[in-house]
Amino acid sequence: MSETEKISCSFCGKNKQDTNILIAGDSAHICDSCIEQAHDIVKEDSVAQKALSEDFKLLKPKAIKDYLDDFVIGQDELKKVISVAVYNHYKRLLQLDTSEEDVEIEKSNIIMVGQTGTGKTLIARTIAKLLKVPFCIADATVLTEAGYVGEDVESILTRLLQAADYNVEKAKKGIVFIDEIDKVARKSDNPSITRDVSGEGVQQAMLKLLEGTIVNVPPQGGRKHPDQKMIALNTKDILFISGGAFVGIEQHISRRMNTKSIGFRSENEAMIDTENLLQYISPQDLKSFGLIPELIGRMPVVSHLNPLDRIALKKILTEPRNALIKQYQKLFEMEGINLIFDKKAIDIIVDRAMEFKLGARGLRSICEAIMLDAMFEFPSDESKKELKITASYVKAQLSRVSSTKLKVA
Ligand code: ADP
Repeated sequence: MSETEKISCSFCGKNKQDTNILIAGDSAHICDSCIEQAHDIVKEDSVAQKALSEDFKLLKPKAIKDYLDDFVIGQDELKKVISVAVYNHYKRLLQLDTSEEDVEIEKSNIIMVGQTGTGKTLIARTIAKLLKVPFCIADATVLTEAGYVGEDVESILTRLLQAADYNVEKAKKGIVFIDEIDKVARKSDNPSITRDVSGEGVQQAMLKLLEGTIVNVPPQGGRKHPDQKMIALNTKDILFISGGAFVGIEQHISRRMNTKSIGFRSENEAMIDTENLLQYISPQDLKSFGLIPELIGRMPVVSHLNPLDRIALKKILTEPRNALIKQYQKLFEMEGINLIFDKKAIDIIVDRAMEFKLGARGLRSICEAIMLDAMFEFPSDESKKELKITASYVKAQLSRVSSTKLKVA
């Protein structure tokens, strides 16, 4: 074999005679097709970086909150907390990308505590939409430790990759919403009393993911098997937002607050709003509830959602940019029909939703039940130009549907 034939590309191994050009370095060679591929990778990466920095020039925490205000009613404290956390998170990414400063800003994963249907998922989803980053929802209840029946913790990242169209660069800067994080709590905060392997095991498995590690992700999901080609994904820059209802955590909060106020009881008690104890949530309460301290430590931003009262539910129905009532009006407008809701009709819908205690989740199923007949009949009747939803119409429609059906949001 001649000397020329022995020279090959150090990246793909192609022999010199099989390449168009083979460039020689000090102790390595690279062929034209590897150069092209490398160029594409660099270009793609810089486009992603540029998009990120351009977005962020525009989005200060106040602008993020203003945007959230268009979609999410109430929850002002959380919106503020999350706007700052998200801003800092992406500022941190820009700092890591562009500078060599020695102060490293830590990641600000977030944990939200609030009753079901109060806007946890909506907030996370809205933030991702605003930032134009890939977003996925993972249900903590289906997660198990590797090797057990259920989904491995890594499966969360399969979904993120899918949301990013398998663009690893994009996925690396995405947002993952971990729902029902409270369901992986261990049953007692004293590990020696009850060993609750499943919950604690999942929490342990999540630690690395939340903090930042390179995970080999099965692109099609499911169990890892030896033949499947894995995609390596670094989770260091992924923002994890988790949420849960933490039913019963109020007891832990009140216990903690009472012990602290010994001696000052009457004074302190007067100041405590016992109707909404979640507003006093602290990492300590999450620990008493059964999250392990290491996991709590990796979600340093703790915030709460307020229960939705009548006023909030009414606003949710009518005010956000894509409020339910506006959605129905749009649907009817497309048929050339003017849809009007009476104030009293709206009051009844809100009353029903309050009874169901499903937060805003109940509104949708109630509205669907009310609107079904009209949505069925009106499109075939071209003479109809207006539909007025009155209190009596609402009552009549709702009386036909069983309330168990309505509760399934
Ligand atoms: P959860 O807190 O259980 O994650 P979601 O965010 O999924 O609740 O809310 C369910 C639905 O209720 C959402 O799709 C949204 O339409 C509505 N909703 C809930 N909370 C709010 C809110 N604060 N503002 C506007 N809409 C809300």
